[in-house]
Amino acid sequence: MIECREVHKYYGDYHALRGIDLDIREGEFFSLLGPSGCGKTTLLRTIAGFEDISSGVVLIDDKDMAAVPANKRPTNMVFQSYAIFPHLTVAENVAFGLRRDPRSKSEKAAAVDEALKMVGLTGYGNRAAHALSGGQRQRVALARALILKPKVLLLDEPLSALDRKMREQMQVELIKLQRQVGITFVLVTHDQEEALVMSDRIAVMFEGQIAQLDEPESLYARPVTRRVADFIGVMNFLPATILSEDGEVIRVDVEGLGEIELAHSQVARNEDPDAGPMIGFRPEAVSIFPAGQSQTAPRQNGGTIDEVVYYGDMTYYDVRLDEEDGTQSKPVRISMRNVYGRDVSCVGDRGVIGWAPSSLILFR
Ligand code: ATP
Repeated sequence: MIECREVHKYYGDYHALRGIDLDIREGEFFSLLGPSGCGKTTLLRTIAGFEDISSGVVLIDDKDMAAVPANKRPTNMVFQSYAIFPHLTVAENVAFGLRRDPRSKSEKAAAVDEALKMVGLTGYGNRAAHALSGGQRQRVALARALILKPKVLLLDEPLSALDRKMREQMQVELIKLQRQVGITFVLVTHDQEEALVMSDRIAVMFEGQIAQLDEPESLYARPVTRRVADFIGVMNFLPATILSEDGEVIRVDVEGLGEIELAHSQVARNEDPDAGPMIGFRPEAVSIFPAGQSQTAPRQNGGTIDEVVYYGDMTYYDVRLDEEDGTQSKPVRISMRNVYGRDVSCVGDRGVIGWAPSSLILFR
């Protein structure tokens, strides 16, 4: 539905978009995710038509958008600072987009009611907009965008002003709404958790380029570069030495874990040429037990607990792993679900960590 081909954008000398290629499918919930300044808002604004591109092509529905102004594109944008008019009622705010619509007053009123119903604000039409909560204002902004029945809804950090609880609730509501209306949603966010929760697919951006475009599960389990792995969730990294490699297997020696055999499918790129090979694993890919307690993990190593962070449902343990020469690795983070209440391991306790080679990634 939306195609970007070799899109570049310069602000003066500053190269904000550096050859963006992507396809966004009709009806999908697509997110642009990346740290502040990576160019995700710029990319969204070029799709909306608020920014001209320096070179490349943006197509919507197979039509080149170069000569199509923002108000003639089949897109509508919901902004971070949901600019609703405080002196108007909720219904007047939602109807604002229809002011040049030739439909009759009663038809417009019905459309407003339908849009308010979609966002869960039935009965709120006559309320003063200034008296709404942040979450309700966001819904009004959504209703105002949806009433125009765009083919694509562009959302620039729409939930960032809300508190955590409200944000989580609105995330679920937005997913439901998107499924219900079937419109293509393109979301800009710097919040990796938000992107993982909401998206069918995510483009991870750094410095004006797309580093990986994938489904949430693939981004998390099979990041293609070390930077993507580090940006999405928590990833532990330990220095590794490559001992040998043949057609099937790579043998590595890893600080704190020892010698391991990996398949070539477990290899990703380390884009930092100065850093040597690294082994990466997620906190939940490893478990920790008190020293002396028997366990069945294929591989086990000893270590000392450096920090314990209690989260209610989970506890994080930072553990220094024993090296052969008597020293210890830098701390690695291990998460354990607290099924039977809080585990009693304390800082300074010895523990055994259990893991499997298949859950490791070699970044080289
Ligand atoms: P954030 O999450 O902080 O909004 P972002 O990833 O959305 O970041 P953009 O707003 O797209 O980033 O900006 C990308 C880069 O382009 C930034 O370095 C920014 O300073 C620069 N930039 C954006 N708009 C302009 C402009 N109008 N003139 C000059 N530089 C700009």
